[in-house]
Amino acid sequence: MNKQDQPLIFELSKEGRIGHSLPELDIEEMELSSIIPDEYIREEEAELPEVSELDIIRHYTALSNRNHGVDSGFYPLGSCTMKYNPKVNEDVVRFEGFSYVHPYQAEETVQGSLELMYDLQEHLKEITGMDEVTLQPAAGAQGEWTGLMMIRAFHESNGDFHRTKVIVPDSAHGTNPASATVAGFETVTVKSNENGLVDLEDLRRVVGDDIAALMLTNPNTLGLFEEHILEMAEIVHGAGGKLYYDGANLNAVLSKVRPGDMGFDVVHLNLHKTFTGPHGGGGPGSGPVGVKAEIIPFLPKPLIVKKNEQFQLDYDRPQSIGRVKAYYGNFGINVRAYTYIRTMGPDGLKAVTENAVINANYMMRRLAPYFELPFDRHCKHEFVLSGKRQKKLGVRTLDMAKRLLDFGYHPPTIYFPLNVEEGMMIEPTETESKETLDAFIDAMIQISKEAEENPEIVQEAPHTTVVGRLDETLAARKPVLKYTKES
Ligand SMILES: *Cc1c(COP(=O)(O)O)cnc(C)c1O
Repeated sequence: MNKQDQPLIFELSKEGRIGHSLPELDIEEMELSSIIPDEYIREEEAELPEVSELDIIRHYTALSNRNHGVDSGFYPLGSCTMKYNPKVNEDVVRFEGFSYVHPYQAEETVQGSLELMYDLQEHLKEITGMDEVTLQPAAGAQGEWTGLMMIRAFHESNGDFHRTKVIVPDSAHGTNPASATVAGFETVTVKSNENGLVDLEDLRRVVGDDIAALMLTNPNTLGLFEEHILEMAEIVHGAGGKLYYDGANLNAVLSKVRPGDMGFDVVHLNLHKTFTGPHGGGGPGSGPVGVKAEIIPFLPKPLIVKKNEQFQLDYDRPQSIGRVKAYYGNFGINVRAYTYIRTMGPDGLKAVTENAVINANYMMRRLAPYFELPFDRHCKHEFVLSGKRQKKLGVRTLDMAKRLLDFGYHPPTIYFPLNVEEGMMIEPTETESKETLDAFIDAMIQISKEAEENPEIVQEAPHTTVVGRLDETLAARKPVLKYTKES
């Protein structure tokens, strides 16, 4: 049987075959209708596959082998930091003291878990240069929203109800304007200049007394460091606005420079990216938010505090924006991040930054002769190429991304950020060897040659995957096609 012919689980189904064995019932069987109201009881049997335990194990193992993950191959997805997630994190999060606790347990019985959360907050304060941290938000986007809601509460506590606008650069991650909108703000776009940095003249033009905040990523989404960050902070603070740092990707700044020292008032981090929580496919994540002293009163509650050598959940916070997540955040991801920070130590984290940056620059320079480099300057943890040259030959960036699948690579982020034509955003991360980087570079060079000599092979890619080129829109809008016996 070839890979393409793997049967559906429904096709494996044989009536009466079962994949479980339960002990015999030793209590009286109850009528379903004595437990569930009649209107909720289904009239027809659910159409479920009937398979043995071995059938189902083989089925899912085969499916997992078709998947692409960091553990199976190089995954240079820009802005997503698909680095290796150390397996020691998994050992630690499975300690019974962490995996068998209940969020409603009395504080004195979960002192270890509370201490870990408290200590993680302390480490994140040190890493970001902030005065206090909440671990509640479950993802970067939720961290952004939480941060903006606090900024809003801060302005309103000063009677500043007219600050209704948030400035977002045109290179920003899509979640930034989305979070600002969900938090009830209007977004104002500020342009990038020819160097890929925020245009200071344009920034001066848009600030005013209706501005609540500027949201910024630094290094920005092009992988470039905003050199004039202190001047930008002065402009925004001068107008009474706050500076929000999108710290989803901290791989280029760890132990080198801190958002708090750059003048930022609020920062969110993506622990599932920089701090090795396995992610992809929608979660789970963790998006803690750090704030400067004047924003502390507005943090979500409860906050984990230490009083008389005891760790406590502090609910007594009258100006808090409230709870933003059930319980205290995604504890499992926080345990992994804590393990990572403790295993790496300060020198290890510094090495992360240096290797992430050197890997990205090495790759950028080696690929520069074959692709257009829209901003020819040193990059930080990631860089952006443009497929403009190949487009003239009839080969789009999407085609090249599909062709990479034939080489066994997950493609980079494409058509992002929006201010680059035919963009390709590559983030190699620090955990990859030079051999891996070279092999990927060779594949990219080969694809650029194919675009010149044999464009069809790129235009019709992928050739070696289980399914060929998908209808992208249909796949996104209708990811699950309903199975019927006839189909
Ligand atoms: C990933 C990312 C986000 C969003 O984080 P989620 O955890 O996916 O919600 C925001 N900003 C930047 C720059 C990112 O890379």
